Amino acid sequence: MSFQFHSSLPGLHLRGVPIVDAPATGSFVGTNYIGGQWLPGSSGKFLQIDSPSTGERVGYLALSTRADVGKAVAAAEAARESLRRMGVFARAALCMKVADAIDARTEELARLLTLEQGKPFHREAKGEIGAASLGWRNAAEQMKWLEGASFPLMDPNKRAVSFYQPKGVLAVITPWNFPAALPNLYYLGPAIASGNTVVWVPAPTTSLIAVKLMECFIEAGLPEGAINLVLGEGAEVGDEAVVHPGTQAVCFTGSSATGNVIAARGAGKPLMLELGGNGPTIVLADADVDMAAAQAGAGCFANAGQICTATERLLVHESIHDRFVEGLVKVAGQVKLGDAFAPDTTMGPINNAATVDKVLAHLDDARARGANIVAGGGRAEGLATNLYVQPSVVTGLGVDSLLNKEESFGPIAPVLAFRTDEEALALAASSRYGLSAAVFTASVKNAFTFAEALKVGIVNINEMSCYWEPHIPAGGAAGTASGLGRTGGRHTLQEMCDLKTVTFDVTR
Ligand code: NAD
Repeated sequence: MSFQFHSSLPGLHLRGVPIVDAPATGSFVGTNYIGGQWLPGSSGKFLQIDSPSTGERVGYLALSTRADVGKAVAAAEAARESLRRMGVFARAALCMKVADAIDARTEELARLLTLEQGKPFHREAKGEIGAASLGWRNAAEQMKWLEGASFPLMDPNKRAVSFYQPKGVLAVITPWNFPAALPNLYYLGPAIASGNTVVWVPAPTTSLIAVKLMECFIEAGLPEGAINLVLGEGAEVGDEAVVHPGTQAVCFTGSSATGNVIAARGAGKPLMLELGGNGPTIVLADADVDMAAAQAGAGCFANAGQICTATERLLVHESIHDRFVEGLVKVAGQVKLGDAFAPDTTMGPINNAATVDKVLAHLDDARARGANIVAGGGRAEGLATNLYVQPSVVTGLGVDSLLNKEESFGPIAPVLAFRTDEEALALAASSRYGLSAAVFTASVKNAFTFAEALKVGIVNINEMSCYWEPHIPAGGAAGTASGLGRTGGRHTLQEMCDLKTVTFDVTR
């Protein structure tokens, strides 16, 4: 028997993943990993995972319940004190071993990533596995040099020092767009380096890669209970990880809608929320137009647009608009869809049907408003699944179009023309998101004027909006729908730790 999977909490995305009573014989079945043991989900049912890139059955994963999360929290709690006592340098050495274990299985992990998430094997999946191991190396290095403080005091007989201590058990909930890189870079490496333990709930459509990563952690000697993997529906197991009294903080990356649910459900706990984006890229009249079009195109079509900091909209000065659009259409024409394992395939499908539907609805909205579809504009036909979307360029958009106001998360380059700097800034601010932006200009003055005025967490000058390195801070700007806190380098570690102050009397 198989039936569709429905969520009962508000603000959730339905992914239409089928639930089955029993996996087909001989298939890959991913299960929970709790307290050093592989355990089935207590619902007794399984999610069936079919490849968005090839259509083949990739495997099944255990569908867990709140009870499984309870076990995972207990295991994480039991491991907490020993991990803290290991000390920073021993934990950093462990992180390096995890990175080596991931690197040693790059081909196998990348293959699964291509099948399960959809991104092309050569051009994207292998690089993502490299980013996953980098997450552990970066966390190990950063943690070793994370300084606390000592303070001059009014009382000459006293001394005071402050240092970082792990918060405890972290609920870590991650999305499907970078299911290998993102959990490791943002949360798992930093959590272990800083001495926290974890209950990890990955996104259901990309949980088999989490199982394989868990195998790497075990090979590297991660202590039992340090990371506990619970597979299943976010609205049930993710929610339980958020509300369980045994988790001390919540680390979530995903949509703004789910982020709002989590902020309410996790009220009172420290929250790290990395949410959606709708990054504007502003191309000023003095920009190098060809370079800007090439960069912007890459920012729109990388990972088929499924990047929180993707180039989601292009605000272009009217004097260079036509030349810029010409360049963008050229980039769209160079994108190659097709065999996910062919070396020259540059773009894969969208991971799931719900997101494809949203992307197509945004294109339909643009058409209905009289915009011009100058490249692509719909589903790519004749490929292995119906989840491929054409790289698309849309012009003549108004401020109220969904492509301007909302996050599309697909391979679309929406272009809006502006006349003055004020108009460009007003357009940039016309979306509720505030994660990333890019500005193309030849002038340092323009670069700083725009960078300082834009209400986002990161601005890249003469570089695509999704450029980021894991040791620099990024995140949502206050008052926007893009989240709370900062990810990157010591900022992640500081968010995962409590600053403890100790005072001494040196005369007693
Ligand atoms: P989503 O919000 O639908 O799901 C994210 C995760 O939350 C999944 O693991 C899901 O199972 C879980 N979840 C769902 N409902 C839950 C609930 N009620 N309680 C707890 N957990 C729940 O997001 P998605 O579609 O998987 O991911 C795409 C979104 O993630 C986009 O909006 C994208 O911009 C955002 N994102 C942000 C960043 C960033 O750094 N800011 C990075 C990557 C992705």
